[in-house]
Amino acid sequence: MKVRAQIAMVLNLDKCIGCHTCSVTCKNVWTSRPGMEYAWFNNVESKPGIGYPKDWENQGKWQGGWARNADGSIEPRQGGKWKLLMRIFANPNLPQIDDYYEPFTFDYEHLQTAPVMKAAPTARPRSLITGQRMEKIEWGPNWEEILGGEFAKRGKDQNLASFEQVQKDMVGQFENTFLMYLPRLCEHCLNPACVASCPSGSIYKREEDGIVLIDQDKCRGWRMCVSGCPYKKIYYNWQSGKAEKCIFCYPRIEAGQPTVCSETCVGRIRYLGVVLYDADRIEHAASVADEKDLYEAQLNVFLDPNDPYVIEQARKDGIPEAWLAAAKVSPVWKMAMDWKVALPLHPEYRTLPMVWYVPPLSPITAAANAGEIGANGELPDVSELRIPLQYLANLLTAGQTGPVIRALERMLAMRAFQRGKHVDGVRDTKVL
Ligand code: SF4
Ligand code: SF4
Repeated sequence: MKVRAQIAMVLNLDKCIGCHTCSVTCKNVWTSRPGMEYAWFNNVESKPGIGYPKDWENQGKWQGGWARNADGSIEPRQGGKWKLLMRIFANPNLPQIDDYYEPFTFDYEHLQTAPVMKAAPTARPRSLITGQRMEKIEWGPNWEEILGGEFAKRGKDQNLASFEQVQKDMVGQFENTFLMYLPRLCEHCLNPACVASCPSGSIYKREEDGIVLIDQDKCRGWRMCVSGCPYKKIYYNWQSGKAEKCIFCYPRIEAGQPTVCSETCVGRIRYLGVVLYDADRIEHAASVADEKDLYEAQLNVFLDPNDPYVIEQARKDGIPEAWLAAAKVSPVWKMAMDWKVALPLHPEYRTLPMVWYVPPLSPITAAANAGEIGANGELPDVSELRIPLQYLANLLTAGQTGPVIRALERMLAMRAFQRGKHVDGVRDTKVL
């Protein structure tokens, strides 16, 4: 056993209101520079939509993450043993600017300088690339926010080719629509495909806290990491010619501060915490044969911070006392590993991601208002919730509905308990 510590995050999707404050504050701090206009270290996707960059979950197209060989070994789809060859022949699986969006601002000056006219002047969009006014904006993150049901039915097979058809199909289907928000950042994976695919060796996972960083002096701009990251969370800075990614606000973490996205989150959905894991178990967990077993396999990598044997070994492996104390009270450990109400995003990519999600209950308010939660001790059937279970399972457990049902039922039970709380025989209406 080799004990390591990792700073990780759980996001409770039940509480995300899609306000994008996290993305904006992150951008203001880390990517408001020329070369990074289109880059969002944190973005909030409207699901079921094709996301940002377009269709990022389609690994058949991008060839990201890890492939499992017939002999049971795994290798990154980008690079791997062909790393040197790929340095010579250009990387073929790169998203283009149109897959992100043409970054734009608004022509605010026009509001003051427009000549007298019958209608009030408007601030038209202006391209940040060409500087020209844009007649219309062709694409942007969250573009398909108004669409729902058909995407859900198609699950993981959603793709842009079907996008226009979906718009047509949606006519008259509003009762089947649903919408949820999925805030996304680099997963600071335990088995990062970006590190494995970089020909320059410029990406590394920090020993002390597991944060994945790019050494800007060593990066040669091959962009194999952009293709290799299955979450598409590495961006090419066109001005510096280097790759950049979320740094998990490490200067703030080192100073005992939360990440910017966590601190500014309006819904208070983000929980930061330390988890302990066994580095010797990573290879096995990432290479299990059946994709459906990957969630359970990743759970087995984590170590119980209250187990005296684990603590003894952690001390031998040099984990500081402060980190051991933090692991014991970690909300990430509680929600993801102990209570199992948080689940990993696309474990089938085999990178062992470290940003986990509590699946959303929907529509929970209607059920609560109708007295279904807590009033008579009965819980709504999770299969009747509006967001299809299979959709959540495709997102969080490689298609297994069992762990999603368990998480949702625990969330419902917790709500029912809280709503049903009585103090001295009187229902406490302040307790939601
Ligand atoms: Fe690397 Fe982050 Fe992508 Fe994981 S999510 S492969 S750590 S860039
Ligand atoms: Fe969701 Fe919080 Fe981001 Fe708002 S700030 S979109 S609530 S994660």
